[in-house]
Amino acid sequence: MIIKSDTVVYNMSPDNEPVVECNSGDEVIFKTEDCFGGQIKSEDMILDSLDWDKINPATGPLKIKGADIGDVLKVSIKKINLDDTGAMTTIPENGLLAKFLTGPETKLIKIKDNRAIFNDKIKLPLNPMIGVIGVAPKDKDIPCGTPGAHGGNMDNKVIREGTDVYFPVNVPGALLAMGDLHAVMGDGEVVICGVEIAGEVTVEVKIVKDVKIENPMVEDDDAFYTVASASTVDKAVEKASDDMFKFLENRISLSANEIAMLMSLICDVQICQVVDPQKTARMRISKKSLNNFNLTFNK
Ligand code: CA
Ligand code: ZN
Repeated sequence: MIIKSDTVVYNMSPDNEPVVECNSGDEVIFKTEDCFGGQIKSEDMILDSLDWDKINPATGPLKIKGADIGDVLKVSIKKINLDDTGAMTTIPENGLLAKFLTGPETKLIKIKDNRAIFNDKIKLPLNPMIGVIGVAPKDKDIPCGTPGAHGGNMDNKVIREGTDVYFPVNVPGALLAMGDLHAVMGDGEVVICGVEIAGEVTVEVKIVKDVKIENPMVEDDDAFYTVASASTVDKAVEKASDDMFKFLENRISLSANEIAMLMSLICDVQICQVVDPQKTARMRISKKSLNNFNLTFNK
């Protein structure tokens, strides 16, 4: 099953019509535009010359038959393929570095031999990731550029090939959409974008019953992450930490105090991004440090 990049939404919404329906366990390919909607064709195109209604498209939504409110949707990222050219921009007055910027600028970045060619001398290793991925919120529209409990523009670099991303299902069918791939991005995304690039993502979707989460989580071979967004980084960190506490409390038989102590010893607070309308943080727990407990998402 393939969802083409011309079927996009600009809001995650319970009212979006699904473009494709699938069953739990199916594999689906999402072809995605970059966050500029593919508008940047040359370096003389600065952000002012773009149609802002076409920024941050997410391909979809995909309806997963049988997904009910209160379930969890598990999205396994099997493969991320990138186009051969990405773009980035500076926007004066935006991002952490606004004070140093000398004006709007667009840079096209070629992808070659698994490197992003920043210039002749600087060839960066890739860390392909999905910036925008989420399900429909319960009772409102949220622009694809804004992250939240439904996912969205989390700009979380651990959402990459080989990871499982878990979302709370808020509407029947979940309505999964994604876009905004990055070829390279650092935690924080301080100038306001990564190497923004089109591509395609192969996922397997599965409905998980009987586990409750309030915000997205990510799992890879080595770790679990709780992921939370809020108006400030502090609040996002606190939410991610609350979620980790609840996750562990339901899976490890220790007292509340001991779980808290353990978290202080082996959990890492990490930043996803600090430049979107809501800020996103994650908390990581290594599976290895808890190997006697065989920590799993399903209880
Ligand atoms: Ca983004
Ligand atoms: Zn992006």
